[in-house]
Amino acid sequence: MTASNPTDAAPPPRVLLSHHLRQLKLPTFLREYEKVAAEAAREGLDHVRFLLRLVELELIDRERRMVERRIRAARFPAVKSFDTFDFTAIPSLNKPLTLELARCEYVVARDNVIALGNSGTGKTHVSLALGLAACQRGFSVAFHTAATLVHQLMEARDEKRLLRLQAQLAAVKLLIVDELGYVPLSQTGAELLFEVFSQRHEHGSTIVTSNLPFEEWTSVFGNQRLTGALLDRLTHHVHILELNGESYRLRQSKARRKRTSQSANEIADPREQDADS
Ligand code: ADP
Ligand code: MG
Repeated sequence: MTASNPTDAAPPPRVLLSHHLRQLKLPTFLREYEKVAAEAAREGLDHVRFLLRLVELELIDRERRMVERRIRAARFPAVKSFDTFDFTAIPSLNKPLTLELARCEYVVARDNVIALGNSGTGKTHVSLALGLAACQRGFSVAFHTAATLVHQLMEARDEKRLLRLQAQLAAVKLLIVDELGYVPLSQTGAELLFEVFSQRHEHGSTIVTSNLPFEEWTSVFGNQRLTGALLDRLTHHVHILELNGESYRLRQSKARRKRTSQSANEIADPREQDADS
């Protein structure tokens, strides 16, 4: 009696199924199939509907994982959205245009966005929210401040891997360059940054934020001809967002101080509060 039934030796179907699902990279399918099978039995679903339900779960989960991956790859300093952005705090900002941009059609059209305004008015917040929206809609995004980007470009040049970095920067669908203008650039830095914008021109979208109006960009690039050529490319197909007003942070802290001194007054003389109201 040497020949036993061959099926006795085969791994049980559940083991095989989980092995195959892992190999096919269907983690949600694997995690959910028993639960969905029980549901299907309870609800009297046929096999096709049972499979459909599982496949849909896998698709939803896969999309979520891809969005998360794109967000990680973008290297945002913080994840911010328009849900937490108060448009009433910044009346100079064109709200319909901003929300239109959040739909990301400009990324498909390879247009650029330039956000201009003084410090603390929400330029970084808006660029982060646009970056997040792009990740959610399936576009690859990279976020840099102008200073760190220039630093990385110089470092890559010194280490003879500039071409690779330039190729990476040219390949993302949306490049965000925050805080152009806070630090003047060296001649080499300005040229390297110019090259990035130049290589992206009409190939992908770029968002630039700056505290300086265009007239003053020459002071950052240190060269009128280069600045002219850069503005020419950047503003060829551009949406301009103006954020001019009081710093949001400053306003918040003023409001906080006011609240603190008000409550201190109330403790000192509760009648004053009555007289006020
Ligand atoms: P900027 O880049 O223009 O200097 P930030 O985007 O860094 O300004 O804004 C400063 C802080 O204030 C951030 O924490 C940002 O989230 C917040 N902030 C700015 N404007 C708004 C706004 N309109 N609604 C909500 N938060 C805002
Ligand atoms: Mg900023």
